[in-house]
Amino acid sequence: MSSPLIKTYCIIGDPVQHSLSPIMQNSAFSALGMKNSYFSFRVPSTDLKASIESLRSIGIAGFNVTIPHKISILKYLDLLDQTAVKTNAVNTVKNDEGELIGYNTDLYGFIQPLYERKVNFKGIKVLIIGAGGAAYAIMTALSYEKGVSEVIVINRSSSNALKLIQHGLKLGLNCHSENFNNLSTFTLHSDLIINATSVGLNDETSPIDQDYIKPNSIVYDIVYKPVYTDLLRKAKEANATVVFGYEMLIAQGAQAFKIWTGLDAPVDAMKKALFGIFGEPT
Ligand code: NDP
Repeated sequence: MSSPLIKTYCIIGDPVQHSLSPIMQNSAFSALGMKNSYFSFRVPSTDLKASIESLRSIGIAGFNVTIPHKISILKYLDLLDQTAVKTNAVNTVKNDEGELIGYNTDLYGFIQPLYERKVNFKGIKVLIIGAGGAAYAIMTALSYEKGVSEVIVINRSSSNALKLIQHGLKLGLNCHSENFNNLSTFTLHSDLIINATSVGLNDETSPIDQDYIKPNSIVYDIVYKPVYTDLLRKAKEANATVVFGYEMLIAQGAQAFKIWTGLDAPVDAMKKALFGIFGEPT
């Protein structure tokens, strides 16, 4: 069967109405003059299997996967790329002539903004705050960077932190978890601080104290809305390098676009579409 010229893509999740992927991907298609469409579909967990089969039967060209299906979808796919195998989670699926192939573009999404800043990972001490799905992708991405000296995980629930540590150890990283109460001690000694919790999403105050952020360290908040979270404001005041969550959002979407179309994504158009929603950082 030949591939149709106009292709359909989507994101599945629950909840999914907040997703910015439709705006980002549709802006990318139109910037390149492609007539493809990208939709969002709310898929409750109980309907996942049937929904995947429906997407398969209508010949969906590809789709993104978000909470809560990133792990549960693995068993419904035909093939997994190494990024998905290593993370044990999928956020992007390509339909390759009827075969559904799972990828995890959060790895590239996370690391690309650090590459753009030419971060040298040799001897670096990393602090990950959080131990949810995104933190697994971050830990996996870090495992590809030879020379990372240490990864510390601090999370509200220590049992979740320990599971993430097991994942990091299996990937060959030197990592351990620490108590939430000691957060300031570890922010002060970290070269790269990553907020991988959802704290900041509702403009909450970050538990990190500005006086405990090293100047010249890198502070990366993966929360993308608001653009300037309380943590990033404090980091800027502390003369740290800030990395915005929207940069990861765009990079993971750009990588998905490339997997689906074989083309480099028009990143500027995607960025412009997002800034139209939440404003450009100054
Ligand atoms: P999960 O639900 O899997 O994990 C949430 C994490 O946040 C857990 O570690 C949880 O701790 C912690 N947490 C939640 N509430 C609090 C709180 N009040 N105080 C302290 N810790 C808290 O979510 P994800 O890992 O998928 O996503 C995390 C965030 O990252 C979200 O805001 C999401 O939007 C964002 N994200 C951004 C991406 C991007 O491209 N920029 C990509 C993916 C996610 P506990 O284990 O104790 O429950």
